[in-house]
Amino acid sequence: MSAARLAALIRKRQPCVVLTGAGVSTESGIPDFRSPTGMWAHVDPLEYASLQAFRADPEKVWRFYEPRIEMLTSAEPNAAHLALAELERRDLVKAVITQNIDLLHERAGSREVVEVHGSIRTATCPECGARYTLDEVVQAQRCRECGSFLKPDVVFFGEVLPAAAIDRAYELAREAALMLVVGSTLEVYPVAELPLETLRAGGTLAIVNRGPTALDERAELRIEGSAGETLGALAAELGYA
Ligand SMILES: [Zn+2]
Repeated sequence: MSAARLAALIRKRQPCVVLTGAGVSTESGIPDFRSPTGMWAHVDPLEYASLQAFRADPEKVWRFYEPRIEMLTSAEPNAAHLALAELERRDLVKAVITQNIDLLHERAGSREVVEVHGSIRTATCPECGARYTLDEVVQAQRCRECGSFLKPDVVFFGEVLPAAAIDRAYELAREAALMLVVGSTLEVYPVAELPLETLRAGGTLAIVNRGPTALDERAELRIEGSAGETLGALAAELGYA
């Protein structure tokens, strides 16, 4: 029933831009960083994922990140990622803006992906600026040119967000006739701001999430449910599953 309503909304309100948070990847076995049972429940994020921590002791940060990167690279896209890629192929989704660093949208086949918190795709040497691919970083965490520890190109706490991605995200938010939020409680910047940008520009908001979000009252459609199940049902409703 709610998938049918979402399908109708997506057909009617184009272009549709999708905004995804951690909840889109939990069904791929990737824990939500900020949930009480998530990755940060037992560690202080500032100790491992802050710029300050990396500068003070990059080896310690890498000991924390190495198993995490391994977990991310062995995860597979789920029904939510696949449905969004299919909707993009059918011109029903213009772009996906994501907080996630796990590359699962890209691996599912999405082409227009804006990663506002960076991704694990590359790592950069903070000393000489040399850039390395994920495969290279998994092999060796030090720069081949100067020997410094590489920093994954994900946004650490205390670090500035990637300007080009943020600009593009705001542009997409303004252009969206419909912003579909999936798997985010909309509490963290910039995702908390982007739906407001869509609303200010006259667009509509739909939300798929487990649990309440900060903008539930502003949404034309609010679906309580998991990302994979709901978007899988949406794709079926549209005849693409
Ligand atoms: Zn270097």
